[in-house]
Formats: sequence, C-alpha cells, structure tokens
Amino acid sequence: MRLEGSCHCGAVRFSVNARYPYPFNLCYCSICRKTAGGGGFAINLGAEAASLRVEGAEHLRVYRARITDPETGAVTVSTGERNFCGECGSALWLHDPAWPDLVHPHASAIDTPLPVPPERTHMMLASRASWVEPCIGPGDREHDGYPEESLADWHRGSGLSGDQPSSRSRKVMAPDFWRSRMSRVSSICAASPSFRLMSSIWESSST
Ligand SMILES: [Zn+2]
Ligand SMILES: [Zn+2]
Repeated sequence: MRLEGSCHCGAVRFSVNARYPYPFNLCYCSICRKTAGGGGFAINLGAEAASLRVEGAEHLRVYRARITDPETGAVTVSTGERNFCGECGSALWLHDPAWPDLVHPHASAIDTPLPVPPERTHMMLASRASWVEPCIGPGDREHDGYPEESLADWHRGSGLSGDQPSSRSRKVMAPDFWRSRMSRVSSICAASPSFRLMSSIWESSST
C-alpha cells in the first residue's frame, strides 16, 4: 500500500510503501507521548525504507532520544532517528540505521486513508502518564513493556499481510479469528528483524 504523508505546515511531504499499514500499535512511552502523542500515545506503521520519497527534506530535523538508566543514571543516546519537520514540529517517521530496510511513519502524519485495525496493541503501559486511561476494546492486547510480536507478526496473525485491505476485512470477520489469534501468541518469533528493530526503539523508551 502506497502511503502519502506530510507535516502540518506542508514543508515536508513524503510517500512510502507499507506492507503493514494498519495503525494498531499504540505506544505509551514517554518519548512517543512527548514527541508524537498528545493523546498519551503514538502509533508507528511499518514501511519499506528504500521506497521512501521526500519533498522538502531540507526542512527535516532529527531527534535521537537521550535515555537515562533509572538505576545507574547513565545516559545513552538512542540509535533511532526520529524525523520531524523543523518548521512546524510534526513528527513524521522513525528510522534506525541499524535496520536500514525499515522505516516507521507515524500514523498521525499519513494523509492516505488507513485501514481500521480489528484490534489494537497497547504497549509500554507501565510508562504511561497518570492521566491516560487506555481505551481497551474487545480483542485488544495490553503490554506493560514490549509486545512479543512485531508489526509483521501482527498482520500475519490477523490474516492481514499483503496490501489489499478489502480482502483483509473479509478475513477479519471469520468466526475463528480470535481463537486462532490467541492460540498462536505463544509461538511468535521474537527474533524477526522487525521485532528487533521495534524493540531497539522501544528499549530506548522505557521511562
Ligand atoms: Zn512542517
Ligand atoms: Zn514509544
């Protein structure tokens, strides 16, 4: 699915191919909340970095989060590059050079109508702000820290891989959908590249 996105002021416009365009993954960590999630969380999508096309790249700025270890006080800098518009401040996408094939646009920056996810994953709930009451729907998953599955795993597990939203919708309505989802959770491959990328981003987001 080709996604078109932009910042609010329009100085930066981009497009990218996304095999995993469902905005299902809500992250409540402090970095997502403060840089991209005024409602208490941000949503990242999974896309192919090589397909990213940017207009107005000269307006981009990059933030690499500084992480303080709560026990030792040691400060490290995340390898994840959070790209945003230097003119209006809109958060646009995350990219980690350690996983150069992938880029994670913020759903909030996407102008293309995205498919509605049949369920959502709420992650880093232990780091959420005290005023945030997550809206947990039927079938939603809740994680205090990192989920066990990647963006790709979620789409595969939901029968939503590929890039044809209409066929996804039919599969989601299958009566055994939820049972098959739940039975496979324990066998998810936590070593997938997408998981490692996301965990590297999430690991730097634990406070
Ligand atoms: Zn802008
Ligand atoms: Zn986060």
